Amino acid sequence: MIKYNLTCKCGKEFESWFLNSSEFDLLAKRNFVKCIYCDSTKVKKSVMAPNLSSQSKKIDKKIKLEKDIKKQLINIRKYIEKNCKNVGDNFSQEARNIHYDKKTSQGIYGKATPEETAELLEEGIDVTTVPWVDESEN
Ligand SMILES: [Zn+2]
Repeated sequence: MIKYNLTCKCGKEFESWFLNSSEFDLLAKRNFVKCIYCDSTKVKKSVMAPNLSSQSKKIDKKIKLEKDIKKQLINIRKYIEKNCKNVGDNFSQEARNIHYDKKTSQGIYGKATPEETAELLEEGIDVTTVPWVDESEN
């Protein structure tokens, strides 16, 4: 297995694993390598980052990583808000309706306690918890 840093034409970078370098070339050629942010297939291998050894650089890297994660979470939040229906505190009830009714395929989001989430998972209902990040937070 080989890990590549990939750069998309949208400017984002992400990591992905491949069997070997020729597998990457093959998948890229068939447009199977997609950007995790914008779904574009215009993805290139980027140059590996040099090894940063000094302590301060490690900390910089950590801060950058945390910022990157926060950015990703904000993107996830925006995606959910754009594509799913906010059902607020009724989340577990609405999730059951969708699961047993199967009438609507629209995604929903809302609040659920950890207990409610566990119950839904036990019933075979597909739910994912996402840390809800506020853009204004620092
Ligand atoms: Zn992209």
